[in-house]
Amino acid sequence: MNAASSDDFDLADQGPQDECGVFGVWAPGEEVAKLTYFGLYALQHRGQESAGIAASNGKQILIYRDMGLVSQVFDESDLDTLPGHIAVGHTRYSTTGVSSWENAQPTLGPTPFGTVALAHNGNLTNFADLQEMADEKAAARDETVKAATQKPARTRSGRDSSNDTSLVTELLASSAAENLTAAARELMPRLDGAFSLVFMDEHTLYAARDRHGVRPLALGRLERGWVVASETAALDIVGASFVREIEPGELIAIDEDGLRSHRWAEPEQARCVFEYVYLARPDSVLNGKTVHAARSEMGRQLAREYPVDADLVIATPESGTPAAVGYAEESGIPFGQGLMKNAYVGRTFIQPSQTLRQLGIRLKLNPLKENIAGRRLVVVDDSIVRGNTQRALVRMLREAGAKEIHIRISSPPVKWPCFYGIDFATRAELIANGLNTDEICQSLGADSLGYISLDGMIAATQQREAELCTACFSGDYPITVPDTAAAERGC
Ligand code: SF4
Repeated sequence: MNAASSDDFDLADQGPQDECGVFGVWAPGEEVAKLTYFGLYALQHRGQESAGIAASNGKQILIYRDMGLVSQVFDESDLDTLPGHIAVGHTRYSTTGVSSWENAQPTLGPTPFGTVALAHNGNLTNFADLQEMADEKAAARDETVKAATQKPARTRSGRDSSNDTSLVTELLASSAAENLTAAARELMPRLDGAFSLVFMDEHTLYAARDRHGVRPLALGRLERGWVVASETAALDIVGASFVREIEPGELIAIDEDGLRSHRWAEPEQARCVFEYVYLARPDSVLNGKTVHAARSEMGRQLAREYPVDADLVIATPESGTPAAVGYAEESGIPFGQGLMKNAYVGRTFIQPSQTLRQLGIRLKLNPLKENIAGRRLVVVDDSIVRGNTQRALVRMLREAGAKEIHIRISSPPVKWPCFYGIDFATRAELIANGLNTDEICQSLGADSLGYISLDGMIAATQQREAELCTACFSGDYPITVPDTAAAERGC
């Protein structure tokens, strides 16, 4: 592999991308659109392409959604147009479906039981089968209409966007069940893959989680209502107390009659371990473990597995910081600031000019020269995907005068793509797919490189290995991936 310059740094290379954050609230007497806005604000890290809120006043559902960050999409007057006592919201990073306004969520669809607004975090692996099912139902419905009216059939479904969420909405709408709860209980077992869903009709808020519990979903209590959110941090931020997680294989419904729980599948847990490593906020709690505590322990374990003589431990901010502090604690090497992050540059829709692009990584990270010059550095990061960012980082630290650069990574090598909602690209693009650790170290231009072991990472989460998905590290996929999808990603 050729050495690359910092010019190769790509602003779009932001590391692994999660695809969505979901939020729902049922709270008569509260300004539910505002609660949802702040909930989505807390979940912004899970998706920055689009944001949307749907609210119901018991008679009708109104929706507002657009491309951009939560703070760019909504202002106070927009939220004022969404009155009601139930709301669902969404922040999106696309996995299935292109990035466009049509694919922004929540999706909205008419059903025999009223209107359904739906928000989804995850990725359905049987999208093609579901599409076929929806088309068959649409064709049967068109035939019925044709027979009754003698008018030509409309053929195929009227789906107007390419994401799996609008497909779920359409399948709920085409159900022959007697109500939305029954329609959802009938549909959930037919969905394969990862899904944490929050949806509503005019009267009831629903939340459901796939039987594997791949993506998180938490339930919280307000004084006058209930909240569901992708992460517990969003509950904290709207003043809700954590009650419990929505269980894998569970559907809940909340309305004026209270909260009802329906078990539609026995749990076969395979929670995403990468939520602990990088995706979730450090102040969230996943299955009883604070993410920050897990990351700190990963850093301590990394220090035990890959010690080195050095002067300073620095983090790739912000996601590498808890592990870097843990590494420093365990090794006795001081932790210090080495890189200042401009947190928002990678999330702008304005493309940098050629001159700015040549500054590469400096648009995102700027070195603190007085802490770096002449020092032997341990640089702790959470993961390496393509390696472009770390290569540019090493070059920048050398230019700032670093004497030695020892990279330590708080997750094992990423060798396999994710089919459950995280954008790791294809196998061929993953640096650890073709190169061993020494070769990656050489390619990055570092003096040494150490990845935490799979066992060490899992132990730091305090979860049972059998209840975690580790597929991007191990290649052991807990949910069957269709051959065509696997072939497309080089598996
Ligand atoms: S493949 Fe990796 S990122 Fe995807 S769900 Fe499994 S552990 Fe998480």
